Amino acid sequence: TFAYASSRSAISRCGTLKLSVRLLSSSYTNLKICRYRELVADTPMVDLTHLVAKDANSELANSNVRVFAKVEFLNPGFSIKDRIVQNILNKAEDEGKLKKGMIAVAASSGNTGASTAMMCAMRGYECIITTSPKCSKEKMDAIKAYGAKLLVSEPGVEEGDPKHYIEMARLMALEDPELYFDIDQYDTLSNPEGHFLTLGPEIWQQTNGLVTHFVAAGSTGGTISGTAKYLKQQNPEVKAVLADPVGSIFTEYFKKGSYGKPKDFLVEGVGKGTIPGAMNFDIIDDVIPVNDQEAFDTCFRLSRKEGICAGGSSGLNVFASLQLAASLDPNTPAVIVTVLPDLGVKYLSKFYNDEWLTENGLKPPSAGQI
Ligand code: PMP
Repeated sequence: TFAYASSRSAISRCGTLKLSVRLLSSSYTNLKICRYRELVADTPMVDLTHLVAKDANSELANSNVRVFAKVEFLNPGFSIKDRIVQNILNKAEDEGKLKKGMIAVAASSGNTGASTAMMCAMRGYECIITTSPKCSKEKMDAIKAYGAKLLVSEPGVEEGDPKHYIEMARLMALEDPELYFDIDQYDTLSNPEGHFLTLGPEIWQQTNGLVTHFVAAGSTGGTISGTAKYLKQQNPEVKAVLADPVGSIFTEYFKKGSYGKPKDFLVEGVGKGTIPGAMNFDIIDDVIPVNDQEAFDTCFRLSRKEGICAGGSSGLNVFASLQLAASLDPNTPAVIVTVLPDLGVKYLSKFYNDEWLTENGLKPPSAGQI
C-alpha cells in the first residue's frame, strides 16, 4: 500500500512526517504519510494517443495530435466528484452554513452521493443522499457503506416533480434549513469553482500549458464549466468540447438554443433533461453526441486493451476525444485532454455484465469489435 501511495502524485500534497520508524528492522525517515482525506485531487494523467489509430500503419499513427486523460477515479471516493464536494463543504463550513449537528443532504446520480457520504464520515456529519432508480446497485451500496441514509425516488418521475430525487433533497432543506444543508451540486457555483481551483490548474501544469482542447460530458456542468474557465483564462484559444449522451437535451440546446423532452439512455451520471445553474454554455465551443453502444464499446477497449476499468462516462469522454482527434489536421500539434470520471467497478452488474447488455438491447464486447 505504501509503495502504491508513494507512486501517486497526490502524495505530494501530504506533509512529510519527520519520524524515525523501525520497519522490518530498517530505519526509515521522512515518511510521506497523510490522512486519507488529503488525497483529493492531484490525479495522474495517462496517454491514450495510440487509441486514435486503429492500426499502426494508419495515417493517424504519425499525427501531431495527442489524447491524454486524467484518471479521476483515483480520487479517494473513486470519482471526480470528491473535488467539488470538498470545495462545497469547505465553503459552507467557512461561511457558517454547515455547522456541527446539521445533516448534509445531496441529490446525486451516485458519485456526488458517495463523495458526500465519505466526507461526512470524515468530518462527523450525518448525511442523507437522494438518487434515482437508474443509479447502479454498487453506487447505492457504497453510499450506505459510508453510513449515509439513502432515499431512492420512484421510477419515471420527471425533473421538477416534488417526487424527483433532486426536488426531494431541495424540499428537505427548504423545510428545515436549520437542520439540513443541501449540497445543491446542480446549481451552486461552488461546484464549477472546485474544478476551477484544482482540475484546471493540474491540466495546465501537466501539459506544460500545451493543452488545446478539453473534452468532458456534463451533468451539473461543473467539470466542463469550471475547468474550461481556468484553461481559457490561461489561453483563450483552448476549446471546450462537451461530450453528450444521445437523448440528453444539451446537444439540442447547444445547436438550437431550446430543447424538447429528453430520451432515455443508459450511460450513468451524464446528460440531462434541463439546464442546471452550474452549467455555463457560453464557454462551450462544440458538442459531440455519443450513443450508449459507442460509450460502452470504448469502455471495453479501455479495460481489455489498456487495463483501465472505468465507468460509462469515461468511455463516452474517450470516444468523443478520439473522434475529435481524428477530425483535426494531423500536421498541427494539438493536445486533447479528457477525464475518466469514475471507476468501472461501480458498474460490474450493469454494462460489464453481458446479460445486462443483452437485456438492454446492446451488444456484448466481441474480439472483432475491440
Ligand atoms: N461522469 C460521472 C460518472 C458522473 O457521475 C458525473 C456527475 N454526475 C459526471 C461525469 C459529470 O460531471 P459534472 O456534474 O461535473 O458535469
